Amino acid sequence: MLIILLGPPGAGKGTQAEKIVEKFSLVYIATGDILRKAVKEGSTLGRKAREYMDQGQLVPDNLVVEIVRDRLMEPDCVNGALLDGFPRTVDQAVFLEQVLPDIETQVDRVLLIEVDENELIERLTGRRVCGDCGASFHVKYKPPRVRNVCDQCGGDLYQRDDDSLATVTERLEVYKNQTEPLVEFYEGRGVLEKIDGNQDIDDVSDQINSALEKL
Ligand code: ADP
Ligand code: ADP
Ligand code: ZN
Repeated sequence: MLIILLGPPGAGKGTQAEKIVEKFSLVYIATGDILRKAVKEGSTLGRKAREYMDQGQLVPDNLVVEIVRDRLMEPDCVNGALLDGFPRTVDQAVFLEQVLPDIETQVDRVLLIEVDENELIERLTGRRVCGDCGASFHVKYKPPRVRNVCDQCGGDLYQRDDDSLATVTERLEVYKNQTEPLVEFYEGRGVLEKIDGNQDIDDVSDQINSALEKL
């Protein structure tokens, strides 16, 4: 089973992913998390990816698709995976379709989380993430129990460099131009399900659960 989370930056994909993987026992694959880890470690991938990420641009397809293919081939993915932040271009989606037969799986659902633009800016600029486990919080909407400390693991929270207002604006533009065409792509495959992401975190989660229980 393969489920994809699609939606603009700040829509709540990571927040919902945490709940979905727990409930449906899926392996969580977030390309953004993998790339940020590579940047932090200063690996070859990280050095190549960094300049794009800092500018709010997409990392070139060829760098990203390899990561996802290799991860999906690992044995723990046999029972299914949840992809967050991948695919982000039609070329990436086509690549994914080409590798799926090798692992005898298919895309079962693409959940499109839709949120109004003003709200996205509010969410991204107030976001705080855990440097250790990647969990995301919000200064207003989802404050941690202790200021700047992760509820899950006790790690320090920080603000992502690309969550500054200027970069956020650029990322929203990149989403519209390069990622939004995937909505039509997956509608054409008959697997797209729209989720109203403007609701409270728990209400979004309820809507997602109903969409997935039909599978
Ligand atoms: P994405 O992974 O799509 O970029 P996140 O899950 O990191 O988005 O959420 C972006 C920010 O918005 C975080 O600070 C998160 O705590 C907050 N957030 C997520 N879902 C909601 C919601 N339904 N209502 C209000 N804030 C939310
Ligand atoms: P968001 O909060 O926007 O959902 P992510 O953590 O998914 O952020 O991604 C952060 C950055 O990592 C993106 O702006 C982009 O530079 C890079 N990135 C993540 N996934 C991909 C992908 N599938 N293709 C290209 N670049 C990606
Ligand atoms: Zn943490």
